[in-house]
Amino acid sequence: MNLPSKLIEDTVKEFSKLPGIGKKTALRLALHLLKQDVKAVEAFGNTVVKMRTDVRFCKSCNNVADQELCSICASAARNKQVVCVVEGMRDVIAIENTNQYTGVYHVLGGVISPLDGIGPDNLHIEGLVDKVKSGAVQELIMALNPTMEGDTTIFYISKQLQGTKVKITSIARGVAFGGELEYVDELTLARSIATRMPYENYLMNR
Ligand SMILES: [Zn+2]
Repeated sequence: MNLPSKLIEDTVKEFSKLPGIGKKTALRLALHLLKQDVKAVEAFGNTVVKMRTDVRFCKSCNNVADQELCSICASAARNKQVVCVVEGMRDVIAIENTNQYTGVYHVLGGVISPLDGIGPDNLHIEGLVDKVKSGAVQELIMALNPTMEGDTTIFYISKQLQGTKVKITSIARGVAFGGELEYVDELTLARSIATRMPYENYLMNR
C-alpha cells in the first residue's frame, strides 16, 4: 500500500497485525484516529498499554485479574465449593454470559496435547489438585472443549484426584464433538451446565 505518509503507513501496518483486520480496514481505522482529538487518541493508546502492563492472573483460578484475586474469586456471592474447570479465559466469559452459574472457575491454560508438546506440567493442574486435596472443593464441573485432548485432560485430572471425595461432573454434550465452547450459543451452554452428569456416566455413554 503506497501512502503519502510513512507515519500513517506504520500505523496501518500495526493495525493489520491484529486478527481479522485487513489492509483496507487498517487504513480506515488509522484515518479515523487521525480525525480524532489528540487527547482522545492518547487515551486510546494509554488504555491499551495499561491493559497489557497491568492485567495479571488470579492467584486462585488463573483467570485474568486486575487485583491479586479475580472479581469472581473475590465475590462473596460465589460458591467456592463448586469449581468449573475450563481451558481458557474465553470459556469463562462464555459461561459467565449465560448468567446461570454461581460457582467459581479454574483456568487450566490449555489441554493436554502430546502432539503439540503440551503435557500436564505445562498446565495449571497442580494448583487445582492441591485445592481439591485441601478439602475446599465439593464438585468439579469439567467444561473442557469436547475433543480428544479435552477428554484426555479430564481423564488425567480425575486420576490425580482418585481417593478424594470430590464429585467430578462433566458438562452435558449439547455441544457438538470437535466444537469449541466459546462459539456455542448461550442457551445450549446454559443447558449443558444445568444438565451436567457424573463423569462415570459420561464414560459409559460414549
Ligand atoms: Zn480467580
